[in-house]
Amino acid sequence: MERRKFIRNIGLGAAATLISKKAVSNELNNLKRIKMENLQKPEFPSLPYAYDGLEPYMDAQTVEIHYDRHHRGYYNNFMKAVEGTPYENMPIEKIFAEVSKAGNAIRNNGGGFYNHVLWWYSLGKGSSKPSAGLSEAINKAFGSFDKFREDLGTAAKTQFGSGWGWLYMTPDKNLAVGSTSNQDNPLMDISPIKGIPLLTFDVWEHAYYLKYQNKRADFIDNLWNIINWDEINKRYQQALA
Ligand code: MN
Repeated sequence: MERRKFIRNIGLGAAATLISKKAVSNELNNLKRIKMENLQKPEFPSLPYAYDGLEPYMDAQTVEIHYDRHHRGYYNNFMKAVEGTPYENMPIEKIFAEVSKAGNAIRNNGGGFYNHVLWWYSLGKGSSKPSAGLSEAINKAFGSFDKFREDLGTAAKTQFGSGWGWLYMTPDKNLAVGSTSNQDNPLMDISPIKGIPLLTFDVWEHAYYLKYQNKRADFIDNLWNIINWDEINKRYQQALA
């Protein structure tokens, strides 16, 4: 897939979804809505809010450690893993489509990098809500918004061990929820669920343990207060196109 189209399709704008460091850097510099403060490496995407921007539902210390150590670590290790390989200049979506052949370093770190970009951009505080089109699709797939919320919540809460809960668009353009283990995602050929990710919940303990300890369910219930629906609406439109 050509580069522009790829960026548009996955709906992350320029949020570092390409492999080439120079390309990532250029794309990020073009992204006016991303503030570049605190950025040590221009190719690593900055947070779209301050560390305390998700309080009180997600504490500042968790956001800082999660973003600046965990996410950055995945990014750095992903860059190392693809360096000098045929994957270095391949769109990440294409890598995921054949990730079973790419090896565990690329699978785990590429997934870790990509999933966290989705994660941070899925969150924020504001007055956004699902668009009419997305609401209709949610009602069609789940019966009601409350049922959708319950189903995604259950998928995330019951994921055994580390992983992610997902709202995603299936290849036949319907909505579905599910979960993946470790750093896998629905774009990967090895994933039991397949489609285009729209919204994701990180259920690794590092995402909540400082504030919620073992209470993963409380953490997930609180995430509904900080979803950036403007971003999810955009991804939905892009996935439909
Ligand atoms: Mn995480």
